[in-house]
Amino acid sequence: MAEGSALLARVRARAEAAFEESVRRLVDFLRIPSVGTDPARAADTRRAAEWLARELAGLGLAVELAETGGHPVVLARGGPDRGPRVLYYGHYDVQPPDPVEAWSGDPFNPRIVDGPHGPRVVARGASDDKGQLMTIVEALRAWMAETGGLPVPVTLMVEGEEESGSAHLPAFVRARREALAADVAVISDTAMMDPDTPAITASLRGIVYVELRLRGPARDLHSGLYGGVAPNPLHALAAFLAGLHDARGRVTLPGFYDRVRPPDPALREAWARLPFDEAAFFREGGFEVPVGEEGHDTLARLWARPCLDVNGIAGGYVGEGAKTVIPAEARAKFSCRLVPDQRADEVFAAIERACRERLPAWARFELLDLGRGDPLAVDPESPAFAVAREALAAVFGRAPVAIGCGGSIPVAGVLAAELGLVPLLVGFGLEDDRVHAPDEKFELVNFRRGILTHVHMLAGFATRGGSGSGEMPATGRRQPASATRAARARRSSTKPSTT
Ligand SMILES: [Zn+2]
Repeated sequence: MAEGSALLARVRARAEAAFEESVRRLVDFLRIPSVGTDPARAADTRRAAEWLARELAGLGLAVELAETGGHPVVLARGGPDRGPRVLYYGHYDVQPPDPVEAWSGDPFNPRIVDGPHGPRVVARGASDDKGQLMTIVEALRAWMAETGGLPVPVTLMVEGEEESGSAHLPAFVRARREALAADVAVISDTAMMDPDTPAITASLRGIVYVELRLRGPARDLHSGLYGGVAPNPLHALAAFLAGLHDARGRVTLPGFYDRVRPPDPALREAWARLPFDEAAFFREGGFEVPVGEEGHDTLARLWARPCLDVNGIAGGYVGEGAKTVIPAEARAKFSCRLVPDQRADEVFAAIERACRERLPAWARFELLDLGRGDPLAVDPESPAFAVAREALAAVFGRAPVAIGCGGSIPVAGVLAAELGLVPLLVGFGLEDDRVHAPDEKFELVNFRRGILTHVHMLAGFATRGGSGSGEMPATGRRQPASATRAARARRSSTKPSTT
């Protein structure tokens, strides 16, 4: 152990000594305008993939620029034959810089400027995700430079379509399932709690998104001729939607809460201590009084409790002036956010059942599946979680907080469904990094701390093992990926869930 920590100290010192070079390489990477969504930037986007492939090959990794039908995936493997394999995911594409005139300089001419946390690099992609991705690359470099090898086997999968919905990623991961098999997955593309408090995003809500179409009369009818007699699908739809919540804010779908995991007391206690400004959060959303399920505070409602929202309603006449119509059809889109251990398939079935039981007998209905994804949770007792926690604590000098994410991260769903891996989301961004906005920046102090954290995590995986980072509600504890399970998971998530 002492030998191990001496080695770790040497690798860490190597990373520190090389930090200026690391910044220089990040700046080079940021100079490439890899706006994946812009056809005019297709060649630049490929150039970013090639740049990264060269860097990784230079580290001695076996690198492949894998074609996908869209922008290529940079796939790299290296390290010893033994030990837990770590799969890293990142993306080399960036958001469009528009509006360019709102930037204080050229978005692809990176500038190092001083801020309240010291120097920062300002450029498109600085935080999302080139800067964060390079924390991993530079940590690997430090291990290679100091020891001539890596402490554990690693695989890197870096795509170029994250900002445009990762269209080709699910098929790619499915096709390369064997090559991508790993014991733990790690992603650095999220934010810290605040400038001094690191965070591990430990749970992501799942989703079920549906459209309900109701038909009443065979055609639109005149309410003067038929009003009071003909069935009106808008009335039935409105009553149905209103009945989806009770007076206490609970969702009334049959069995909806049956699998909801009781709140973990330790986690709840930790959340209560988070520097979360509730009033500011409401203000940001443009409202003052929150709604929601009785008996739960805001963070629990966002991270630990499921919910249902109507996303749109259509039907009848909504043009200028009056038209006395009884519409033939009414439509609504609504969606549920799910938490462990709910299952998207079961919630969809519960919606179907509610439609059958609650809609009037005359209403012919059609329920469309617009997307499903199971919720994901990292097991806080797993060795991999402990590795991340200890690494962050060692580098930041304070324990990380485990936070939830009310939305979904599509790639996490893909890794879970296809590889049976729930990724550890360990990010070094800050809320004010202005990702997707003008003057995006990444704090160099966090670039440095990110590199050191990954240096530590690589050592941690070697000594503590890395298996079992997470669990999927449908299958319980993570097992080695199996074809049957992956096939089942694929059926249950017809497409990756949306954020
Ligand atoms: Zn990103």
